[in-house]
Amino acid sequence: MNKKEHVVIMGAGPAGLATGHELTVSGVKVTVIERNDFVGGLCNTNEHNGYKFDLGGHRWFSKNEDLNNWFRRLMGDEVVWVERISRIYYDGGYYTYPISIVNVIKNAGIFTIMHAGITYLISALQYSIFNKSINNMRDAYVAQFGGKLYDMFFRRYSEKVWGLPCEELSADWVSQRSAGLSIWTVIQESLLKTKSDNESLIEEFMYPRDGYVRIPQRMAEDITRADENNAIHLESTVTGIVYNGPNDFDVTYKDVQGNESTVNATSVVSTIPLGVLPRILKPAPAPEVIEAAKALSFRALITVNVILRKERVSIDTWLYVQDEDILFGRLHEPKNWSKAMVPDQSTTSLVLECFCTEGDHIWQMTDEEVGQRCVEDLEQKLKFIKASEVIDFQCVRSLQAYPVYDLDYADNIKVIHDYLAGFEGLHIVGRGGTHRYNNADHSIEMGLLLGRRILGYDVDYMGVNTEPEYHEIKTSKDPKRDYYKVEEKEGA
Ligand SMILES: Cc1cc2nc3c(=O)[nH]c(=O)nc-3n(C[C@H](O)[C@H](O)[C@H](O)COP(=O)(O)OP(=O)(O)OC[C@H]3O[C@@H](n4cnc5c(N)ncnc54)[C@H](O)[C@@H]3O)c2cc1C
Repeated sequence: MNKKEHVVIMGAGPAGLATGHELTVSGVKVTVIERNDFVGGLCNTNEHNGYKFDLGGHRWFSKNEDLNNWFRRLMGDEVVWVERISRIYYDGGYYTYPISIVNVIKNAGIFTIMHAGITYLISALQYSIFNKSINNMRDAYVAQFGGKLYDMFFRRYSEKVWGLPCEELSADWVSQRSAGLSIWTVIQESLLKTKSDNESLIEEFMYPRDGYVRIPQRMAEDITRADENNAIHLESTVTGIVYNGPNDFDVTYKDVQGNESTVNATSVVSTIPLGVLPRILKPAPAPEVIEAAKALSFRALITVNVILRKERVSIDTWLYVQDEDILFGRLHEPKNWSKAMVPDQSTTSLVLECFCTEGDHIWQMTDEEVGQRCVEDLEQKLKFIKASEVIDFQCVRSLQAYPVYDLDYADNIKVIHDYLAGFEGLHIVGRGGTHRYNNADHSIEMGLLLGRRILGYDVDYMGVNTEPEYHEIKTSKDPKRDYYKVEEKEGA
């Protein structure tokens, strides 16, 4: 690629910044346009009275060792290792996650485990022997774990996250997130403890000492440092993209005062929601593309950040809360991840994740109501705190947090892809950008590979996060890609 070219990146989340990082290492001029007043997208860390809160606990984990090396080089001495202890709160009991059969027996008793065994055998017969088809998320979980374990550990939490019955959600989510994890893996891990050398459930992970936002911040620092012509425009919303022909675009964005600017680009990288992109692109698409775009939906998130006059609340990295009568679905205690997340070690903090949809009854509650309700649930239901120990709380609202995999999402994506194929030099990448349930490492890996693609390398960036494998298991068969080696040689 000609180094004089100019790439405009829409969105300064991990995917957009990773593309920018890879391009600027090779001297390509980039302009990043970001709606928020911060970089990082969903990987933001909010600071409140010296306490730092991720938007829900974000850990760094990748099965790709080259990417892990890239991460270590980027973050230098900012990386800490965190021991992972995750539990599920279900009907008043605490269960280890990933699920352990021994722990289920201890908590729920031998009859429950026998019930689980029988329902598993029934589903094994139905799905493996009689080839019953898997049509939705419920079928996919039941085929893997049987009806009882699905009901105990997957149904209620999934429905809390997605706001829809599992029968109305695609099975793809399960195959992306937990294919390869079966009741047999669970038994092997928990009962027999026969971890082979090359296969283990993740028990430790890397984390940036001062919060996850340091990852996008580090990339942004490198991008602006690489060349004075590179720019990251914050508080700037992309409102229109005009395609003048192959590798010739005009991108228009608006700042908070409403002033419009237009910038010309040889390539455009979009990390803005795939459902939004066709609606701001010219030439405008046919009505069926607009319909497909409108049908792609997201779940939103309200995180309640609580500061407490108490040394520690939990031992967990995450606690998954199944019960519907508790407003939040997951919590974490930032201090358990890194001591630097709290300024005073005699105090602690919690982040509570309330899944919702823009405009629904949770979204319509005021911040005060959401916070008070969460404090009540913590005190009265989980018995974790006394309300008098709360020093302060703060709510953070995020739209477009979870791309919804409803039963039509794959068909809608295909309609949009067909339309976008006509725009030479326009690339989609990232979680909302591709409407794919990416973790940050997937978005970064996609972004780095897209950078390579724009530089002329023959790499498949859209192949990231499509392997139907359980993300929690590392195996010696995991792909080892060499794409980041050039950067290593250059010492960037
Ligand atoms: C509660 C929660 C917990 C998570 N935990 C983990 C975890 O433990 N580990 C992990 O790896 N991942 C985790 N993730 C996922 C991770 O946050 C995402 O995968 C990652 O942020 C996706 O990066 P992205 O760049 O693709 O998208 P985003 O982070 O969504 O970035 C897109 C950017 O585009 C901007 N934008 C949108 N529209 C416009 C516009 N019109 N103009 C300009 N800018 C625009 C947005 O403001 C945003 O900054 C979690 C996510 C959530 C919600």
